[in-house]
Amino acid sequence: MAPHSDIAAAAQALREGRLVAFPTETVYGLGADATDDAAVARVYAAKGRPSFNPLIAHVPDRESAFALGRFTPEAKALAEAFWPGPLSLVVPRAPSCPVSLLASAGLDSIAIRVPSHPMALELLSAAGRPIVAPSANPSGKISPTTADHVRRHLKDKVAIVLDGGRCKVGLESSVVSVLGDGPKLLRQGGVPRAEIERVLGHPIAVESHSARPHAPGQLLSHYAPHAEIRLNADAPREGEAYLGFGPLHAHGAWTLSAKGDLVEAAANLFRLLHEIDATGVARIAVAPVPHHGLGEAINDRLLRAAAPRESA
Ligand code: AMP
Ligand code: MG
Repeated sequence: MAPHSDIAAAAQALREGRLVAFPTETVYGLGADATDDAAVARVYAAKGRPSFNPLIAHVPDRESAFALGRFTPEAKALAEAFWPGPLSLVVPRAPSCPVSLLASAGLDSIAIRVPSHPMALELLSAAGRPIVAPSANPSGKISPTTADHVRRHLKDKVAIVLDGGRCKVGLESSVVSVLGDGPKLLRQGGVPRAEIERVLGHPIAVESHSARPHAPGQLLSHYAPHAEIRLNADAPREGEAYLGFGPLHAHGAWTLSAKGDLVEAAANLFRLLHEIDATGVARIAVAPVPHHGLGEAINDRLLRAAAPRESA
């Protein structure tokens, strides 16, 4: 167990927007302040993820979890039965939910978990805010179950690696959504399906990622602004709001990143689309975003937002 002072330093790093790898009972997580758009963007950048799939917000207790989302009686029953533990619950975001829209990948739902590893719980309490923590490995590599695995691949990307020994579960959390159309098992993981069904008192629908390998990305089709989106626009036309990038930022009130920084642009993307949409404008023109680094994920999301709606 890491000394108390290490955990305090890690909590401080998280509050400053830096990344901290820490043990949970499932796998090691790459932690960042879930309420800080830029910190969340740095998680995607560090993992080299090709797209912004939604992340799980980690909190130290049920009360903190209940403040972030709307829990039906079934969701509450699962929380009572399995938290702290290897189950993540996807519920509608509470109106006051402070978690970055980037962490929810622009969705109006949020995935939440209370892990059971004592060091994780201590860190989350000390941080005093929800922490996103996808597995602490580069995209496409195997999830780390020791601090050494993390150091091997991500050492340069994180402020601190907390060492809590080998992960007991070693498998990612089970992900269950409870969104109004009944519970669905989105990912098999640390809590066996039979145990979930025992608590629910009925079988659970399975919508596994193996059946729909691009589920996290497809989820984005649920999110579309009311406004029409025009991409690769060098300037706004009559009646359009303009979302700029880099040198083109001067054309309008909104800019993904005036200095052309892709990490900053990712951090701002979903928040700005919501903000512009809220003005009621009919069309949003978006400046070209370079197609490298996080730019690929940004363009992927923009293309989805711009896609025709009829089929959705
Ligand atoms: P990881 O990043 O490995 O911890 O995985 C997070 C998992 O939670 C992925 O399978 C996501 O698709 C899933 N997830 C997170 N948030 C949501 C959400 N709002 N709706 C559906 N699935 C989610
Ligand atoms: Mg992973």
